[in-house]
Amino acid sequence: MSKEPFIVDRTLLEASIKDAEKDGPLTNLSELWRRSCAFYNEQLAYLAKQPNAPTIQFVTPSVISLRAKIWNIQILTVAGAKGRKRSPSNPPNTPKVKLGRKERLKGFAGNFAKMRRLMPKKFHKFIDRAEKGSIKEAVRVKCLDCSHFEKKEIAHCKVKGCALFPYRPYQNSSDVGLKEIEEKPSKLTSLPVLGNLQ
Ligand code: SF4
Repeated sequence: MSKEPFIVDRTLLEASIKDAEKDGPLTNLSELWRRSCAFYNEQLAYLAKQPNAPTIQFVTPSVISLRAKIWNIQILTVAGAKGRKRSPSNPPNTPKVKLGRKERLKGFAGNFAKMRRLMPKKFHKFIDRAEKGSIKEAVRVKCLDCSHFEKKEIAHCKVKGCALFPYRPYQNSSDVGLKEIEEKPSKLTSLPVLGNLQ
């Protein structure tokens, strides 16, 4: 069974859109199709009461929207964000402000304070520098924490799978007495090796 073609009066549809936008563009397209549809059906209902009225077909906002597109009818309203008007509780996204490293680090003051509580005082200068933005010192602090504050253990770290391994401090450094270490290798190899990178 073939479907009956849906009859839409183009002149009435154009008049309906014009009426909906008589005060200017609407906040979004959904509102435009809804108002145009209401006007269109209102006019049809009035015509239906006239003697010898033709067969009428009420429309939906979707029909109005589709026909307006097919007939390329000019409208003033533009599409809103996802077709909806934004409410005051749902404001548009504010542009992201990119903070510098020092600014961002201000939000981690609590973390650095906790580090100071856990680390011997002589290492606090490294925490201070890390807090000021030094990544090098941040690596040093992490390695010290990992190696129980033993510089020699860092120099002799065996965890080649650690992401910090190539950046760890005290590599080939005289201030940890490498000569002594080479003679007496560290026994600290208990950290999990994530991968054999040799
Ligand atoms: S495993 Fe080695 S390189 Fe990684 S954090 Fe610990 S001491 Fe530093």
